[in-house]
Amino acid sequence: MDYGHMAARALEGDLIGIDEGVELLQAPMDALPMMLEAAFRVRRATFGRRVQFHVLMNAKSGLCPEDCGYCSQSSMASSDIERYPLRSAEEMVRAARSAHESGAHRFCVVISGRGVADDELEEVSRAVQAIKSEVPIEVCCSLGLLDLGKARQLKQAGVDRVNHNLNTSAAYYTTICSTHTYADRVATVKAVQQAGLSTCSGVLAGMGESDRDLVDVARALRVLQVDSVPVNFLNSMSGTPLEGMRSLTPWYCLKVLCLFRFMLPKTEIRVAGGREVNLRSLQPLALYPGNSLFINGYLTTGGQSADEAIAMVKDMGFDVDMLPVLAPNTT
Ligand code: SF4
Repeated sequence: MDYGHMAARALEGDLIGIDEGVELLQAPMDALPMMLEAAFRVRRATFGRRVQFHVLMNAKSGLCPEDCGYCSQSSMASSDIERYPLRSAEEMVRAARSAHESGAHRFCVVISGRGVADDELEEVSRAVQAIKSEVPIEVCCSLGLLDLGKARQLKQAGVDRVNHNLNTSAAYYTTICSTHTYADRVATVKAVQQAGLSTCSGVLAGMGESDRDLVDVARALRVLQVDSVPVNFLNSMSGTPLEGMRSLTPWYCLKVLCLFRFMLPKTEIRVAGGREVNLRSLQPLALYPGNSLFINGYLTTGGQSADEAIAMVKDMGFDVDMLPVLAPNTT
């Protein structure tokens, strides 16, 4: 494959074809340096050498009635995780301040569950209002399925962006979840867009899907015109139906990231959950296609610290896209 030509076409706005996407994912390892170089060319056109850090807060953990097969927070999973109801608005504000102090551009409040209850939405809204008035940080929320009314309430509270991942293709969705549908997820993304919020929606690779499934979901996200795409890699947890599934190799993960960069040339591509255990020593190379990282861990698992991430970014000759650090809070 001519990756230089693919990069040029991506930059011109061409949508990479299904067969081309599958061929890219099946390319031999020897093709990887050229693929990464071409993906970097596309990344650099919009994002230069900048890397943004995002921090997640698992503001409500476990006890979810849904049956997403990869998720340790489902009540069907017997995983050994902490389970707790919604944290208070004050705790969310403290976490946002600490995220900012560690160099994060964006702070994302995540709750487990099919959707958000009215009283939970009130508490999250109260937290967001306080964060936006006290902390110079972008705020994202990931609160499960949302209708237009709830999305508007978040917009009114000052939320910048809402995350709701498609996770996999329409065709494969029923294999990983039976309690809600792919269409439910698409409807949430559209409600968020209709409310005037920025959208984040990503994928989880490594659940037994085919190359074609990954290409299909990349194309679906392109059609939806989302602003940000977290590319997660399965870190299979004991006690979940996907326990023991370890199909990903570091170089395959890099090809997945390149696919998303070519498919979504101007979209934020975040090297997301499971990057440490799946990319392993090849993690720095993920910065060629990807332009952002989660730091300080994920919802129920740990991850690379801010200091380690900063060192990795600097070693690669990239720049951390930091907002000014606040004076310590003495109140
Ligand atoms: S809806 Fe969210 S919290 Fe619940 S099982 Fe699915 S991914 Fe996990």
